[in-house]
Amino acid sequence: MEWLSDEERFSAIKENLKYLSDDISDAAVRSGRNPEDVRLMAVSKTVESKFINHAINCGINLIGENKVQEFLLKEPELNLTNCNAHLIGHLQSNKVKKIVGHVETIQSVDSVSIAKEIGKRSLEAETVTKILLEVNVGNEDSKFGFTPEETFERACEIAEIKGVSIDGLMCVAPICEKESEIRSIFSNMHRLFIDIGAKKMDNINMNVLSMGMSGDYRQAILEGSNLVRVGSSIFGARIYR
Ligand SMILES: *Cc1c(COP(=O)(O)O)cnc(C)c1O
Repeated sequence: MEWLSDEERFSAIKENLKYLSDDISDAAVRSGRNPEDVRLMAVSKTVESKFINHAINCGINLIGENKVQEFLLKEPELNLTNCNAHLIGHLQSNKVKKIVGHVETIQSVDSVSIAKEIGKRSLEAETVTKILLEVNVGNEDSKFGFTPEETFERACEIAEIKGVSIDGLMCVAPICEKESEIRSIFSNMHRLFIDIGAKKMDNINMNVLSMGMSGDYRQAILEGSNLVRVGSSIFGARIYR
């Protein structure tokens, strides 16, 4: 949308959000839930603060950023009084100290060691950081995350760490050709989420199932997602500089 004027882009964002909110409600109802049971996160990586603030003015109450540095640069310009921020990108251990206390949840916890570092830095900051465990649900070499098979065992190890609280699971699904393929991937994730929740372990709460992006949020909701992370369908195609 770089060829659009700011005014045109503001109105495109507003229309995109209206469309998404209707579409998400529809998918939620089809999956037997209430529209308000599914949260919409606006993924704001590479997006300038003025457009993010506009999305917040239009009703967005959750944003997601991938990079610690980028978020910390934009944070002072953002209107976060009624909006939470989550980190959704792979986190390196030397960045943990910088981000703890600045986001409500770190969704992209993909190793026990990063969870330990988050716990340590959270204790120093006298806080507890909510985390989601990232699951490499398609077993892809190119992706971060725990394998579905090991997720419960790792969750039990992480649950012992002081300063972190496990709040659910997140995944980035593989690109699938067929509708049935993506549905079955999301369905596997949902089953894992339900199974782990059913074990009722201390410090392991399965509240949030974060799955679905611009290309697949409908299928994710139909299979039980309660948080979709949508970037380009809100803000337009990303321009990386
Ligand atoms: C970029 C990103 C998204 C949003 O992707 P879109 O396809 O633009 O909706 C969601 N989740 C993660 C982890 C991302 O990095």
